[in-house]
Amino acid sequence: MIACALSVLLGVVAWTLTEYAIHRWLGHGRRFRKNPFGVEHTRHHALGNYFASAWLKAIASLIVGAGAWGLGGLAVGSAAAGGFVFGLMAMYGAYELHHWLLHVHPGLGPYGRWARKHHFSHHFSDVRRNHGVTSPVWDIAFGTYQRPGRIMVPRKLAMRWLTEPATGEVRPEFRADFGLIGA
Ligand SMILES: [Zn+2]
Ligand SMILES: [Zn+2]
Repeated sequence: MIACALSVLLGVVAWTLTEYAIHRWLGHGRRFRKNPFGVEHTRHHALGNYFASAWLKAIASLIVGAGAWGLGGLAVGSAAAGGFVFGLMAMYGAYELHHWLLHVHPGLGPYGRWARKHHFSHHFSDVRRNHGVTSPVWDIAFGTYQRPGRIMVPRKLAMRWLTEPATGEVRPEFRADFGLIGA
């Protein structure tokens, strides 16, 4: 039972590293940017509210998960491999939902506020920093963490929750963390 819980936990932690590595190297690494993830990610940055097809991601993750379970099962037994893959996939699903919510919802509590500053400083201040989306752990470990200052968001890419519909200006509660630039 403890071994199973540990393998689930290991899968969760492994996802946070996978999230960092895919984003940093497949999404923004010069040499690899032409891969399908890199192309989709470039669109995500350029359009702001664009997300790759959820169906495609679900199918790809099921194939990867089944493959990892099969291969991992040969190495460490199917129960441990299953726990690991379950933790990895559950955290991947949580990450997808979390990333989408960062873009469409103002967020709740200190973590919601932190996560938005961390992610949008990556989008709008420096794309070479803050690649982690659910945590800053791997940015700190790999030296790409940057404490976000006030983030200047191009007006045409402003998140729906950031601005007041009537005036188009930043809502008062976000003005300490975010400003708008451009026409
Ligand atoms: Zn994003
Ligand atoms: Zn990015």
